[in-house]
Amino acid sequence: MFQVSFYWAEAEARSLPDPMLVPVGRLRLAMAGTERPTPRCDALLGDVGVGVACSLYERRPSPCRDFTASWARGVAEDGCDRARLRHGLVPLSLADWEGVEPDEPDSPERPDGPEPGPDPGPGPDGPGGPEPQRPRDPKVPNVA
Ligand code: SF4
Repeated sequence: MFQVSFYWAEAEARSLPDPMLVPVGRLRLAMAGTERPTPRCDALLGDVGVGVACSLYERRPSPCRDFTASWARGVAEDGCDRARLRHGLVPLSLADWEGVEPDEPDSPERPDGPEPGPDPGPGPDGPGGPEPQRPRDPKVPNVA
């Protein structure tokens, strides 16, 4: 499962647009497209393996923020590696980050609400979580 789901209040707190959301259960929403059998978040722009960007990057929900691309913080990330392999892409290496400015760590704050319950699968766009969400950079092909 690749569903990117989160507590409903987060969508409001982050001003996520309604057309980009689908209900999943009573208290949770998911990013539209990630609930489909062949998931692809509707907020994702571009072509996987060529260059992609999140159209809601500044407002992306917590599962996306919790996902870390391999070597972005100095270690390999299994979820990232598996997501890339699913799309026929080799795992990122430390060399892929050469010359890329590190992101500021995201705030751990979440909008008020219950702790997320177990999801059918980890975060955005992938068994293993969301795709790496970085600004478009041909050296670091994103997957989603
Ligand atoms: S980070 Fe990926 S999964 Fe999350 S909103 Fe953006 S495109 Fe969708």
